Amino acid sequence: MPSDEMDMTADSGITMPALFVGHGSPTNAIEDNEFGRAWAALGRSLPRPKAILCISAHWETNGTWVTAMDQPRTIHDFQGFPQALFDMQYPAPGDPELALRIQKLVAGAELQLDLNWGLDHGTWSVLSKMYPEADFPVLQLSLDRSREPQYHYDLGRELRVLRNEGILILGSGNIVHNLRTVVWEDTAYDWAVEFDETIRRLILAGDHAAIIDYPNLGPADRLSVPTNEHYLPLLYVLGAQGTEEQLQFFSDRVTLGSISMSSVQIG
Ligand code: ZN
Repeated sequence: MPSDEMDMTADSGITMPALFVGHGSPTNAIEDNEFGRAWAALGRSLPRPKAILCISAHWETNGTWVTAMDQPRTIHDFQGFPQALFDMQYPAPGDPELALRIQKLVAGAELQLDLNWGLDHGTWSVLSKMYPEADFPVLQLSLDRSREPQYHYDLGRELRVLRNEGILILGSGNIVHNLRTVVWEDTAYDWAVEFDETIRRLILAGDHAAIIDYPNLGPADRLSVPTNEHYLPLLYVLGAQGTEEQLQFFSDRVTLGSISMSSVQIG
């Protein structure tokens, strides 16, 4: 349900694209593979953002929070991975003033300012490839775990206006994400492929209502989205979609059995 609001470019003259990126394994940050190369190419092709607001699957909270510190720390929120991953730092600055503005902008939720989180690997695994210089502000918005999917989509709609100010809205998750069924090889379960293709078809059709109502899409959804923290960032990005905007999929396939890397650029 793309809205009929106009996406005018009041401030910068450029409407930044909105991105949903399937981030997959944290090791994508340190490997030279097709996913990291796609993220790097994206960083070279997009207009340079003034700041990035990332909605990562890896920050679930009670209430909705936006990071508001000057210098967010790099969070290594995983176990059992190579030391090189724990050594990674992504020293992008924060932007407390922008956090305050976002807090005021959003009417449909009571945003709270966070001074404790930072940048988790949902954010920095992608950005370290996209923008290795880490030279503009990065903020994160948390996922309120108590809320229904519609809340997250509606919040995305409220954030859409930020795109007109040159702010990149980045959702980082995975359309299909089932760790219990993961196999460490480049393969895909039929049900994972089916669900991934269904969601991509619905994105193309602009049928956001069906995407929000994903538990009713059929039997594949329970295996593909056993918990929805990796799926919800997609709803923010679709909420931020304007009328009749171009869509472009990339990395659109399933790997590790049940992890979809499918990603979409809007605008
Ligand atoms: Zn993840």
